[in-house]
Parts: sequence; C-alpha cells; structure tokens
Amino acid sequence: MTPRPAPATADLLGTSPDDGGPTLRLSFSRVDTYRQCPLKYRYRYVDGLPERPSPHLSFGSSIHRALEAFWDRKLPDPPPLQTLLDALYDGWDSSGFAEVERDEQVRYYHHARDVLAAHHHRFADVALTPVAVEQWFRLPLPDGLEVVGAIDLVEPAEGGGLGVVDWKTNRRAKSREEVASSLQLAIYALAVEHLWGQPPAWVALDFVVPGVRVTVPREAIDTDAAVTAIREVAAAVRGEAFAPRPSPLCDWCDFRAECPAFAGEGPDVAGTALTELRRLRRRQARDAERAATLERVVRERLGEQALAELD
Ligand code: SF4
Repeated sequence: MTPRPAPATADLLGTSPDDGGPTLRLSFSRVDTYRQCPLKYRYRYVDGLPERPSPHLSFGSSIHRALEAFWDRKLPDPPPLQTLLDALYDGWDSSGFAEVERDEQVRYYHHARDVLAAHHHRFADVALTPVAVEQWFRLPLPDGLEVVGAIDLVEPAEGGGLGVVDWKTNRRAKSREEVASSLQLAIYALAVEHLWGQPPAWVALDFVVPGVRVTVPREAIDTDAAVTAIREVAAAVRGEAFAPRPSPLCDWCDFRAECPAFAGEGPDVAGTALTELRRLRRRQARDAERAATLERVVRERLGEQALAELD
C-alpha cells in the first residue's frame, strides 16, 4: 500500500510557520506546547529562544533512531538484536549530557540497551513488513491551516487495513482512556486517512520502557474534537494570545528567567544561546575543515569538473 508522495522534508518544515504567510503550519508538539502554556509557545516557536537539551530528550531521540533502524525493513523477518544495538551506538545523541557527569550518560546508555533488548525480545518472533516508518505527512485543514508531523510506524492490521504506532519513552504506560484521548493519535488517524485514503483500523502508543503497547480502535478516537482543539489553538496563535499559564510544569521550563510569572528565576536564556552558538560555530569550523579536505581529494582524483557538478 503506497501513500501519496511525501513532500521534501525542507518543504514540510518551511522557514517558519509564524512568518506571516497565509498558511499557519502547526504540529502536535506546537499545539501541545500552546495548550500547556501560550507564552512558552511564543518563546519557543515565535522568538526561537534556546532551550537546554536534557538527558531524557537525548535518551528518547536515541531510542527512536534505533527503533527506526529495527523496523525500517523490506522483509518480514526482524533483524538480529545486534542491529538495534549498533543503531543505538551509531545514533547516540549525547547533546543532553553536556552538563552531567559522564557516569550519568553511561547509565542512560546502558538503560537504553536494556530497553532495546527487551523490545527485540517482544518482537523477535513477529514476522511483519511495516507499511511505513517515520512517515511524514502534511494534513490540510480549513482556514489556511495545516498540521505536519511524522508517524513512527504504520503496520498492516490483522484482518486488513492499517495500524498506527507511536513509540513513547515514558517510564510508565498510560491507561486505555488516556490513549483514546490522545490528540497526537487523533492527528495521526486523520493523517493516515489523508495519505492512504482510509482511516486506520487501530492506533497505539507503544511504551518501550515498560514494554507495553496500549491499542485502541479507530472508533475510540474523537478526531472531530481534535480538529476543534487545533483550530482553537490556531486562532489564538493568529491573535497573538501569548499569556503565561503557570503550572507545576514551570519547574522544567527553560524560560523562567524571561517569564513575567517567574521574573529573574531559572536558567539564563542568553547564556544558553551563547553556549549553543559557540557549539554551532565550532561545528561549522570542523565541517568547513573537513569539506576542504574532501574537496582536495575529489579535485585530485576526479578533477575540478566533479566539484563544479556538486553545485
Ligand atoms: S515558566 Fe511557566 S508560565 Fe512561564 S513560560 Fe514557562 S511554562 Fe509558561
């Protein structure tokens, strides 16, 4: 089953959804952030203020990359455990561990290996050819609005149709009711219908740490309510309604030093910006040096024309 062609990643991401263009582009993360705190949305997505990468986020992105390598296959037989572990090693995201002890990163890495070993054990006997892995989508909605995102895994459902899976690295699984009310899964259900012309048979959150998949039938998902919620957020963003909404989650917010609800407290955003800029400049310098070396190799072996053809 082939989805309608996905647009290029750069096109999906665009330069900025808040650049005054006629289309407002949202994602589940953006909608979720706005509903958590409108001012956080503004700081993160409109002002582009930096946030400090956290160990948990790095752990999550590393696990996701490894799972992609495991599930992205053309044959039904699962690859060996070593494939997963190699993918973890190759794709380990260390950005969130810059400010913690090395032992802490090692602890997370070993935990990730254990989680992936358990995942492999769960699915080692499941012969299945996924329909899509990390499937990008652009879902048009009324009022010049579109929702973009990527679905972790689309698999053939038993008895026909499609099943949608999103991997989570929460420590505990959520209840069936919580999964059924997931805005993210509602968006994915709409996206599958848009891409494949049919709604999925079921949607699921797979909690890879406890090793539990919570599946609900498509009928349990209220997509109308999801569209209403997205349109409400879009209207508020367009109206520039960015008031702070303090909650217990403020304890983990990197913008407290900027936020009027917590003036002067929390991490220094300018300092974080400086650190990230310093890191990016170092990387640019390293990349430029490597590019110069490779240019020399290509020029010596293939000639100047080969370099000109790269542009
Ligand atoms: S500190 Fe709290 S209220 Fe302020 S921006 Fe962050 S989440 Fe919003």
